[in-house]
Amino acid sequence: MTDPRDTLGFVRNCLVRHSAEQPEESVPAFDTAEARLVLICGDRIVLRGETALIAPAEAVGLEGGTRIFLGHRDGRPVFAAAAPAEAAERFAAAPTRTLDLRSIATESAVEAEELGLLAVAKSMLDWHARHGFCANCGTATVARAGGFRRECPSCSAHHFPRVDPVVIMLVRRGDTCLLGRGPHFRPHMYSCLAGFLEPGETIEDAVRREVFEETRIRVGAVTYRTSQPWPFPSSLMLGCAAEGLDAAIVTDPSELEDARWFTRTDVAAMLAGAHPEGIQAPPPMAIANYLMRAFVAGET
Ligand SMILES: [Zn+2]
Repeated sequence: MTDPRDTLGFVRNCLVRHSAEQPEESVPAFDTAEARLVLICGDRIVLRGETALIAPAEAVGLEGGTRIFLGHRDGRPVFAAAAPAEAAERFAAAPTRTLDLRSIATESAVEAEELGLLAVAKSMLDWHARHGFCANCGTATVARAGGFRRECPSCSAHHFPRVDPVVIMLVRRGDTCLLGRGPHFRPHMYSCLAGFLEPGETIEDAVRREVFEETRIRVGAVTYRTSQPWPFPSSLMLGCAAEGLDAAIVTDPSELEDARWFTRTDVAAMLAGAHPEGIQAPPPMAIANYLMRAFVAGET
């Protein structure tokens, strides 16, 4: 089996985070020749050729909201900023263009190490856009530490960017595995079951609870396999293999449109785009694809 980082999106990251390299309040100058900027117009990221790291001068007059200092890449300070969706028009002509992050990942529009950096930028900007007020007292908060913290001037509370852990699991029973499709999936696609962890829950218990809630299948042993940042807006996917103890599936229609046991032959055909019923797998950049490949390889 290959290294998951060979195919998964957002797992390689060239960013040297400033939390690791210098005092948190020290932010380099933005208006310099060496600085680089990730500019997100609405939900579209500006690309110049095969990179999303543009010169700050290209964004003059467009930035709104908080400008974040992400860290360094190749010795250059890298910032992220948001602009209104209409600003994308300025970059519509070659050599620039705009593309949403999911498409950048599936099309490999930037190199894999830069994709991880873009995940940081998108999750951070989304967090700032939705957390402008203190959760403790309701006062407008102020960005600090290059944007990696917000502080409340009224009650002094500190607020930090959130990461939402999600378990995603391939449940195996004998030579079959359990895959389902949610009502929002694209037609014919089946994938691993998944769900958010709840407070006070272990990864293993979250796997068991989610699988039982969605399919009434009880789960025995759970093994952690690998993880993937999923910046829509700020999830961390925790990929697991799990042992299914029951055969009869009873789906919860509010969660799943369908769930079935698939054979290794089925899953291999899905991954190859050659399933006789036209059933498809998620793309190689997604962790479910990796777990399904591990199942076909006999590793789960
Ligand atoms: Zn407050």
